[in-house]
Amino acid sequence: MVLAQLGGSIARALARVKDATVVDEKVLADCLNEISRALLQADVRFETVRDVKANIKGTVNLDALAAGTDKRRIIQKAVVGELCRMLDPGKPAFTPSKGKPSVVMFVGLQGSGKTTTCTKYADYYRRKGFNPALVCADTFRAGAFDQLKQNASKAKIPFYGSYIESDPVKIAVEGLDRFKKEKCDLIIVDTSGRHKQEAALFEEMRQVSEATKPNLVIFVMDGSIGQAAFDQAQAFKQSASVGAVIVTKMDGHAKGGGALSAVAATRSPVIFIGTGEHIPDFEVFDVKPFVSRLLVYLSGMGDLSGLMDKIQDVMPADELVPKLTEGAFTLRLLYEMFQNLQNMGPLGQLFSMIPGLSAQFIEKGKEKEGQAKIKRYMTIMDSMTEKELDNTNPKLMNESRISRIARGSGRLVKEVVDMLEEHKRIAKMWSKLPINNFRRPNNRDSL
Ligand code: GDP
Repeated sequence: MVLAQLGGSIARALARVKDATVVDEKVLADCLNEISRALLQADVRFETVRDVKANIKGTVNLDALAAGTDKRRIIQKAVVGELCRMLDPGKPAFTPSKGKPSVVMFVGLQGSGKTTTCTKYADYYRRKGFNPALVCADTFRAGAFDQLKQNASKAKIPFYGSYIESDPVKIAVEGLDRFKKEKCDLIIVDTSGRHKQEAALFEEMRQVSEATKPNLVIFVMDGSIGQAAFDQAQAFKQSASVGAVIVTKMDGHAKGGGALSAVAATRSPVIFIGTGEHIPDFEVFDVKPFVSRLLVYLSGMGDLSGLMDKIQDVMPADELVPKLTEGAFTLRLLYEMFQNLQNMGPLGQLFSMIPGLSAQFIEKGKEKEGQAKIKRYMTIMDSMTEKELDNTNPKLMNESRISRIARGSGRLVKEVVDMLEEHKRIAKMWSKLPINNFRRPNNRDSL
């Protein structure tokens, strides 16, 4: 994703301000030009870039600043603030509530990743305890129903569609009736796409929307369409009451500017991004982590806010926070995390986000070995006593305990020592993470 490069460029522009001996109008102008260039290169639309630049300039009025004011900080704050403002439409998207039937309709051009994303979205909520169902109201594309059926079966989500019925409205209504009777609390309707925006597509969308009265219309957009994103998003917004955006294919050559432009065009938030063809390749999108990712090079740290989100998928905050705040990162906590991680998709995604961890623990492209290592660690921990797992005393693990654990787990003493060292290292790193950033436990289901 070129977003990382965008982050780097913006960070470099800000670093130049930081390093300047005197912060004057010229330094500010150079910084703004550099940021504009970076945004344009990331495919953000020219008009949006122009507005961003003007707004930052308006916020940072160097002449009016009192002597002694930290101009560098003011510029940095203005840049981050403006990027957040551009991305934050100010009103959150509708989020489904467990046990209350909601209808969510997906719209977008053919090939945008709409059908794949419907299943990812359903699966996301299923993992949160919802009872979702999928309805294929795409009668335009041959094979659409088969594709949805295949994805839905893989994710074990009930689905409805027809090979013979050609009226999408009829299918949508039938599917809705059926799943409402079955007490599904999140009914997702996949609609037809076309190769390009055209009247027939928008008319069909309008009819399905009128018949199903969705609580939320999600516009799915291919992240790699670049500059065209703004116009496409705006066209959909004008024809359907788009309330949220999902940008797909952010794993490939997508420069990321499309996501920024789509928010600007629809004034609706991007709620998720697609990062691959598979069901778990789906990430919650939140403005602040996104912007912090842009600035990742500035701090020299990983994307900690994004990391927090991932961690909460692995271990709910109400379980994790008390454990961490009690003080030590025990072996039991590490064991539970490994357990949860094994149930959820690619580990690399999480580990690569922890600064300093990926290189030593799971090398890129060697995820299989990483998994094997985790398995080995868990076998070793299976041979530990309750006291050892909950231990916070560094002196407890003496030679005799280590040999006993090695014998019990059928592993070498050296392997047990390695594992304990690894645990120490991870615990040290975790102690530096801003755990206060965890979402409050009672907000766990909101996006
Ligand atoms: P639809 O025509 O809009 O329903 O699009 P599909 O769901 O059929 O997706 C079109 C193609 O894009 C398929 O090959 C998908 O596997 C692929 N795809 C969807 N989302 C993503 C994503 O986030 N990343 C990548 N790399 N491919 C995706």
